[in-house]
Amino acid sequence: MNKYFKYIITIIVVVLIITAISILNINRNKQKEQKSNTTKIVTSFYPMYIIAENLMDGANNVELENMADVNVGCLHDYTLMTEDIKKVEEADIFISNGLGMENFINKLIEANSDMKVIDSSKNIKNVMIYEGETNPHIWTSIDNYILQVQTIANELKEYNPENKSIYEENEQIYVDELEQLKNRLDEELKKLEGKKAVCLNETFEYMGKKLGLELLTVETDHEESTMSAETLKNIIDTVKKENIEIIIIDKNDNKSNAETIANETGAKIYELNSGLTGNLDKDAYIKQMEENIEILKNTN
Ligand SMILES: [Zn+2]
Repeated sequence: MNKYFKYIITIIVVVLIITAISILNINRNKQKEQKSNTTKIVTSFYPMYIIAENLMDGANNVELENMADVNVGCLHDYTLMTEDIKKVEEADIFISNGLGMENFINKLIEANSDMKVIDSSKNIKNVMIYEGETNPHIWTSIDNYILQVQTIANELKEYNPENKSIYEENEQIYVDELEQLKNRLDEELKKLEGKKAVCLNETFEYMGKKLGLELLTVETDHEESTMSAETLKNIIDTVKKENIEIIIIDKNDNKSNAETIANETGAKIYELNSGLTGNLDKDAYIKQMEENIEILKNTN
């Protein structure tokens, strides 16, 4: 009898273990399935993240992540971190600004050769090259930004057809809003056309061109705001000679050079937002540009 009882207990324990293992496996498979059903989209830096956020609103089975810390700013001299590579290894789609902003792109492709790479700059026509160096800060011109949004939308539709109609709808909504912003900018800043300005941050070259400003841009390596004493003296001479009244810098720049020029010449400093960092709201770019319009409206 005792032997018989032990036999039953053993069978029950074995059955329980088998059941537990099966349940665990089913869950694991479900998780795997969910993961493989999700399209992971990784953006390189802040401006691309904001575009993706607008286009992906309401999309199904997608996940958005920024590769670098989202407020790191420009990626010209960025050194890839282990976490960045990890994010990219799992990505299905990578959205880049292009034009050398992501110099490390080949390393990412090496890490994940199956990943689709979107180059948002591919339809930009007015790329500026100065002394052999390409200026990648195209998004500061609304015209370019709209082209970037459209390029990204078109490729998302192709690489993630499941959400094609959502991308299409979101593209239309966002581009409409941007067109309105563009009209406002064209109207309210018309007075800047043909005016001369000193720009101490190459990020704004595209915006300046869009506004019709005659920009004397000084390559300051905008993260550093560096400038030699000789360059500074030359700028001051030019500003005096040409009666330049506008000095443009980024609101996050070191202001000392701009202040020296302003003090020596009477020109005024306008601190703009280059849209390189900010909050993660969908309308962040629009708000930043509206801020710039308000500031530039105050020019004489
Ligand atoms: Zn930059």
